Amino acid sequence: WLGSQCSTESETWRAVEYTIKQGQRDLLNNKQEVTEMKEKTTAIVLAAGQGKRMHSKIQKQFLEIQGHPVLYYSLKCFQESPLIHDIIIVTGEDMISYCKREIVERYQLTKVSAVIAGGKERYDSVYKGLLACEECKYVFIHDGARPFITEEILERGMFGVQETGACVVGMPSKDTVKLSDEEGYVKETPNRKCVWTIQTPQIFSYSLIREAHDSIRQKDMSKITDDAMVVEQETGAKVALAEGSYQNIKITTPEDMKTARHFWRNKSSVLRLFYYYSISPAWHWELLRILFLNARRKVLELLYPHSDIQLI
Ligand code: C5P
Repeated sequence: WLGSQCSTESETWRAVEYTIKQGQRDLLNNKQEVTEMKEKTTAIVLAAGQGKRMHSKIQKQFLEIQGHPVLYYSLKCFQESPLIHDIIIVTGEDMISYCKREIVERYQLTKVSAVIAGGKERYDSVYKGLLACEECKYVFIHDGARPFITEEILERGMFGVQETGACVVGMPSKDTVKLSDEEGYVKETPNRKCVWTIQTPQIFSYSLIREAHDSIRQKDMSKITDDAMVVEQETGAKVALAEGSYQNIKITTPEDMKTARHFWRNKSSVLRLFYYYSISPAWHWELLRILFLNARRKVLELLYPHSDIQLI
């Protein structure tokens, strides 16, 4: 379109450059608007699941990635985000004191305002979290078993929720998705361009999600698998989609722990270097060479105490 508006190639490129700069300025303004939001926002972080598919005595949210519990990583992101004012941790009754001592105190998570007991199903834990919220405008509901959220994801979610009061993060599906019938045959193939796999956080206006949960609790909730479904069914409000990331995985099985550790190693370039050198044979040879040269120097110093050892 720009090409058709300009008479020469250099004019077109100047127009392209101007458009990009304008776009960057708009993005920056939006980001500032989002970051400077004054309304109170609470994060509810869910960690009350049993995680049976992990086949581990320790619940998956408390397993460790590089010396820190899985749950710590998302809490750290909320703690450091200027968008979040306070955090409610929902966990098992028996894990409340562990969470307070080993997570909140140990990592000085000053935004955590409550650590409460969850319920039997995920939606019960969410509801308890909602009841524990002090007056707030927006609420981020997040699975503590997803350690790889980032500030950018929170910003996109916050931006999305402004429009309709409901926003979920997710990613466009890379695979073709099929819907099956009861007998296990393909019933339908949805257009892949319209298929997203949904992650958390899911962000809502507090009044909207509270009203939706209050109303659905009288009904059959067995098919509810996320918070947006509650809003879709009970309020008819439109739910916005915001981009999460393909790394924002939910830890469910032992393979996910391996993937999570791999992602974490790749996150930090310093650690990557350390990791590379620790497995690289070149590094071991270099260490042996230095040890050998030092030992040789010591022997020479003993044998020829008055000579110029550096020169030798
Ligand atoms: O079991 P699932 O992987 O779907 O759980 C997603 C998140 O919800 C996990 O962080 C889990 O700890 C939490 N959860 C909860 N209360 C439950 C069940 C799950 O807080 N009753």
